[in-house]
Amino acid sequence: MTSLEPAPDETSTHLETDVEVLVVGAGITGLYQLYRARVAGFSVQLLEAGGGVGGTWYWNRYPGARFDSESYTYAYLFSRELFEEWEWREHFAEQPEIERYLNHVVDRFDLRRHIRFGAKVTSAVYDETSGKWTVVIGDGTELRTQFFIAATGVLSVPYYPEVPGRQDFRGEAYHTGLWPAEPVDFAGKRVAVIGTGSSGVQVVPAIADEVASLTVYQRTANWCTPLNNAPITPEEQAQLRTDFEAMCETLNTSPSGFLHQAHDRATFDDSKEQRWEFFEKMWSSPGFSKLTSNYSDLLLDEAANAEWCEFVAEKIRTIVKDPETAEKLIPKHHRFGEKRPPFVTGYFEAFNNSNADLIDLEQTPILRVTEDGIETADGVREFDIVVWATGFDFGTGALNRMGIRGRDGVALEDHWADGPKTFLGVQTTGFPNFFFPGGPHAAAGNNPRYNGDQVDFITDALIYLRAHGCDTIEVSAAAEEKWTDMIDRWATRAPSFGEISYYFGSNIPGKPRKYLLNSAGRPKLFAEIDKVLESHYQAFRLSNSSNPARTGA
Ligand code: NAP
Repeated sequence: MTSLEPAPDETSTHLETDVEVLVVGAGITGLYQLYRARVAGFSVQLLEAGGGVGGTWYWNRYPGARFDSESYTYAYLFSRELFEEWEWREHFAEQPEIERYLNHVVDRFDLRRHIRFGAKVTSAVYDETSGKWTVVIGDGTELRTQFFIAATGVLSVPYYPEVPGRQDFRGEAYHTGLWPAEPVDFAGKRVAVIGTGSSGVQVVPAIADEVASLTVYQRTANWCTPLNNAPITPEEQAQLRTDFEAMCETLNTSPSGFLHQAHDRATFDDSKEQRWEFFEKMWSSPGFSKLTSNYSDLLLDEAANAEWCEFVAEKIRTIVKDPETAEKLIPKHHRFGEKRPPFVTGYFEAFNNSNADLIDLEQTPILRVTEDGIETADGVREFDIVVWATGFDFGTGALNRMGIRGRDGVALEDHWADGPKTFLGVQTTGFPNFFFPGGPHAAAGNNPRYNGDQVDFITDALIYLRAHGCDTIEVSAAAEEKWTDMIDRWATRAPSFGEISYYFGSNIPGKPRKYLLNSAGRPKLFAEIDKVLESHYQAFRLSNSSNPARTGA
């Protein structure tokens, strides 16, 4: 049990054991699903394994954890009042503020009374006769629900690599994705950080100045660029309020769910001098704009991508004083965007501290963890604290571990043995009345926007079913196959990109190399949703479990 799991006496309230809609996960997506289902008049219950709301923003409370999408674009947009009464302090909010915001939302909309904390789902089984799901939680309690909606996220199962001796370490060890509630005291400690993805590169500068020594174990250097965070001024707060409707329009229609506008020029439309001037603008621009507002061919043309990478490499060489460390920090084997790029504040600068060291695991791999530290081919370094920033079993991790059984007792993890098969990233064939917004084949952009589209689609489908005397919905095998094939085809459309990202499951040994997000993007999701609505849900079979004659709508 981690200290983020609730004490037993906190878990005993708020449990309806027979509902129409059961949601799993009190993250941004699950809370919105709970809200929408309740407003639509369904009886609801939400189960959450942790001791509070926030989902990924509950478990990932490591030092430096913050949004890298703009706070107001990541927040809920369904209520103008909510938007106006919550003033984000920074353009990219830190974890404590995010957690406060989500608690505010839960209380503001009176959602807490529908949430049971400390309720980890251990199995969910579909009963063909009643058309209902039986869901069991950790303490053995059974619940029944018509619609089972797992909003369990794509980054919710922390991954520890198989390093010999990991359990032998006698100091403190933490995973960024399972951070304890009590603050960790880094002051004067010898600290190792393993992993340099978005989490590791946020931890490093956050603790660099207080530790006695900081050793960063890097397997793959990352294309980090500045987040360019700042406090939101009173004038900007006022402008955000004025621009609310226009902002919603942009976010609700943008291909990636960001405010950043696409650039209309390709890299080699400009001279080298113009390019470098533009890249300087990109370097100083906020968060994801380096990806979304850069030259239009950044992800499509190898030579174009190499130009931007050359610019970023020059920046790294300028920031990092030790040339050998700078070279190690420059990625050599992948292009910008081929892995999810992190956005940082003070990451490269941290290596100018005399107490900071970078270990390049390409040259000296980790051999084992010992009782006192970490051993590489260079010998053993001793530590007081080891931080595992080694990522997650992305996309399917949580769903494949929940004991989900569909028609004929088929296990979801078997149905997805070769990778996830979905339609719109919301349903899979053979698992009627089961939905998973924000799961595999979902967002490739600003997650809450995309996942919100899915929640809206699901809730509207449930309302439609109810209005047409149906209680069961199941996507057809043909629709699932078509959507999944399309995801797989689009995933490899950037000619210079390999299957090296966790987006393909490649960080987990033995996991099928299948694309785990929606590679075709949000416009394709919109187009497909429109088709479903126009055709009155033709891609699905709608029926009534107590009146089999009543099929379709
Ligand atoms: P990650 O991107 O998967 O990074 C994991 C790191 O651990 C990588 O550097 C990886 O190296 C390393 N690693 C894995 N196995 C290792 C081993 N056996 N030995 C040494 N190193 C090993 O995970 P993450 O940093 O937690 O980020 C996951 C995702 O969460 C992000 O991409 C992002 O979507 C989200 N996130 C967002 C924010 C935010 O700013 N809003 C912050 C944190 C996370 P390789 O690259 O060589 O595999």
